[in-house]
Amino acid sequence: MFHDWGRFGDKPRDKSWYDTAQVCINGHLINEMSVSSPDHNRPFCPKCGCQTITKCVDCQTDIPGFYHVSGVFVGGPPEPPPAFCGNCGHAFPWTERRLTAARAMTEDLDRLTEEERRELQETIEDLVRDTPMTQVSAGRFQEARREGWNWCRERAAGHLSGRYERHCKESAHRHVRS
Ligand SMILES: [Zn+2]
Ligand SMILES: [Zn+2]
Repeated sequence: MFHDWGRFGDKPRDKSWYDTAQVCINGHLINEMSVSSPDHNRPFCPKCGCQTITKCVDCQTDIPGFYHVSGVFVGGPPEPPPAFCGNCGHAFPWTERRLTAARAMTEDLDRLTEEERRELQETIEDLVRDTPMTQVSAGRFQEARREGWNWCRERAAGHLSGRYERHCKESAHRHVRS
C-alpha cells in the first residue's frame, strides 16, 4: 500500500503531515525533511559512504520523517529512524544489519554454553525490537557480570549503538530513583 505522504506541492498548509526521512542503509539519518527540504538529500551517506533510502525496500512506503504541525514550529533533536516499517512490519536495512552483526557476534563466543548463547540472542532481539521485554533485557545485560558476559555486552553495545545505551541509562536512572 502506498501512503500519499509525499508531494509537498499538493499539501494544504493548514494540515499536519509527515515528511519523508532519508536514511542510509546503516541507519544514519541524512534528512528528516527529504520532501520539504530536498537540498539536504544525499545519494550516499557522508558518515559511512553507504547508499541512502527514503522508502521501505519491501513495500515501498515512505519512511516517516519530521511531523509538520500546521502553524507550529517544533524544534528539538531529530527522532532516530524507526527500526521497522509501520506498513509491512519488515525490519529496515539498518535493523537487519544490527541483528545480523549481533547474531554473528554471539556465534563467535566459544565460552558461552548453547543455553547462554540462545538467551543472549533473544536478549539482542528484544533490545532491537523495543518490546516490553526491552527494559528487562537491558537490565539483564547490565547485571550480567559472569565471565565472558562483560566482554560480549560491550561488543553488543557497539553493534546496537544508541538504543542499548539509552535503555541502560534509563534503567540506571530508575535504579537511582528507587
Ligand atoms: Zn551512513
Ligand atoms: Zn514496508
